[in-house]
Amino acid sequence: MANAGTCPKCKNGNVALAEFCAGCGFPLGGTEGAVGRVPHPQPLPVPDGFRKVAATADLYFGVHSAWGGKRLLTTENLGITLLNVGYGLQELALHVEGFDQQGNRLFEIERRLPLLHRGERVEIEVPSYEIPDPPESVDVRLVRAEYA
Ligand SMILES: [Zn+2]
Repeated sequence: MANAGTCPKCKNGNVALAEFCAGCGFPLGGTEGAVGRVPHPQPLPVPDGFRKVAATADLYFGVHSAWGGKRLLTTENLGITLLNVGYGLQELALHVEGFDQQGNRLFEIERRLPLLHRGERVEIEVPSYEIPDPPESVDVRLVRAEYA
């Protein structure tokens, strides 16, 4: 049985109902099942053009390619830059969806990342053969993660 006071970040066993971890200071209130959703007290700056990864507190993504935010050529890969401005995470699973101008979903794929440190940027490349049509917009959602 899981100890209610176990820190999800450093695994320190705290007294139940502790508000902060005695080992690392991580806020424990309501963090169960919420890895990646606890805002860091001092998030790093987010560059222009980056959007929040859904279901996270401090993960952001930017989409880049020669389409310049507009149309992709069908032969082009889709490049997604992930940026972590909060707590370091590992064993991430991310859900990526692309939509057309009418908001219809064109594709959905899952990508895994072994590690995403605080302040780190990681590129995710989606090959064009995984994309049936060029998307007008892209959404990224965190499915699960562990604290690094
Ligand atoms: Zn801790």
